[in-house]
Amino acid sequence: LSGNVAIDGPAGAGKSTAARLLAQKLGYLYIDTGAMYRALTWKALKRGINVFAEKQLVALAEETNIYLESTTGGILKVYCDGEEVTKAIRQENVSCHVSAVARVPEVRRRLVELQRKMAASNRVVMDGRDIGTNVLPEAPYKFFLTASLAERAQRRYQELLAAGQPAALEKIKEEIHKRDVQDSLREVDPLQPAPDAVIIDTTNLWIEEVVDKMLSIIYE
Ligand code: C5P
Repeated sequence: LSGNVAIDGPAGAGKSTAARLLAQKLGYLYIDTGAMYRALTWKALKRGINVFAEKQLVALAEETNIYLESTTGGILKVYCDGEEVTKAIRQENVSCHVSAVARVPEVRRRLVELQRKMAASNRVVMDGRDIGTNVLPEAPYKFFLTASLAERAQRRYQELLAAGQPAALEKIKEEIHKRDVQDSLREVDPLQPAPDAVIIDTTNLWIEEVVDKMLSIIYE
């Protein structure tokens, strides 16, 4: 076994849980690239920067230090300029605005550079939207997870409930759908499977089944 694992797919398809478990089993680092776009969005909102003010976002991306504390045990902490933002970046306000920040090409260029650096010095399981297509096109193992919108919304609903931040299912569905559309239609690195990715529909699968499927392909 050698080489990095790229996992892409829309919001709520089960990427982060599957990626974390897989990293744990392989003894690799788990890198959540969505958390990086979220951290930058969190900072922009805190500064009162309009998410459509491209130049300001690019400047912000250049001066922001985003750090992921990942362990092979799968625990992940997210820091923005030294401040822990692990929880803060999951807030609805961030979820609603992150796609707008992520569509700016220069912002992506900067974050992709950081992501490639992380993968250069470690074996990684990296999840996001453009990992197999752009960040790590040479990764030997690529997966693209999908699930129905209803199932993805339901999972998110349960997650928020468990985190003590309940939200209405219909609202969650709307937010996820909006993000899907924005992520798929953006001009640079739109969400789409890499030609050599294995597509897994997780709608009717337990997370362990998803991970087992990935492991069987990796060890094939
Ligand atoms: O993975 P997560 O849902 O937390 O990602 C939040 C947002 O960050 C996505 O909706 C997308 O707009 C952006 N993103 C991206 N490229 C990545 C990872 C995330 O554009 N590699």
